[in-house]
Amino acid sequence: MSATNQSSSTRPLPPGTVLGPDGKPCKICTSFRNWKLPTSSRATTASPNKGDAAQAMASATALAASAAAGEGDTHTRRSAHCPPDVESLGRATWTFLHTTAAYYPESPTPTQRAHMLQLLHSLPQLYPCSHCAGDLGARLQRRPPDVRSRAALSAWLCATHNEVNVMLGKPTFDCARVDERWKDGPKDGSCD
Ligand SMILES: Cc1cc2nc3c(=O)[nH]c(=O)nc-3n(C[C@H](O)[C@H](O)[C@H](O)COP(=O)(O)OP(=O)(O)OC[C@H]3O[C@@H](n4cnc5c(N)ncnc54)[C@H](O)[C@@H]3O)c2cc1C
Repeated sequence: MSATNQSSSTRPLPPGTVLGPDGKPCKICTSFRNWKLPTSSRATTASPNKGDAAQAMASATALAASAAAGEGDTHTRRSAHCPPDVESLGRATWTFLHTTAAYYPESPTPTQRAHMLQLLHSLPQLYPCSHCAGDLGARLQRRPPDVRSRAALSAWLCATHNEVNVMLGKPTFDCARVDERWKDGPKDGSCD
């Protein structure tokens, strides 16, 4: 996997395009704002001829940090009928994972624990953004999921999401508010 602004064909790719494991441009690994060729010139964070996974991760991370800083706003609009990019896929996946954790049993059976472990450990194998999947796999190795209870799983997932937030230059989330965000809604009733 590598990141480059030049494909094997002669057609130049938008700056910051991430290549997948097959060496081809990987839409689902790239933010739409970086996939769309901008009309004005922008600095690229991708380096041609540095074709390793570390470079791809550095490039994608720098681009996400740029997005977190609000850069590239003119390239952020994306129609609802379009396939997901790395950001919309991420938001949907976090929504699914945090909501699933929020409704996980307080006292899960051994079978429920095993299913949850299978779900989480399958992500590094199946998640379509390949550099995200590799990164998550390493995190699961370093800090294995805690599936002993609803509270433990929600806390583990919140901490894992925060690790990704930090890597991408995004603010961390207050994990004391994870139930409010994903299950109960705010106390002011604005989501009731
Ligand atoms: C497993 C996984 C790995 C990923 N790896 C990468 C990667 O390597 N590179 C990359 O560019 N992108 C990666 N992404 C996508 C990235 O994490 C974001 O989803 C994407 O950049 C969109 O970010 P966002 O700012 O819209 O909010 P998101 O980070 O998608 O968060 C969605 C919402 O969750 C809430 N939230 C935020 N943090 C927490 C938390 N700690 N606990 C609970 N709730 C929280 C907030 O309300 C936020 O609006 C990954 C996504 C997933 C699911």
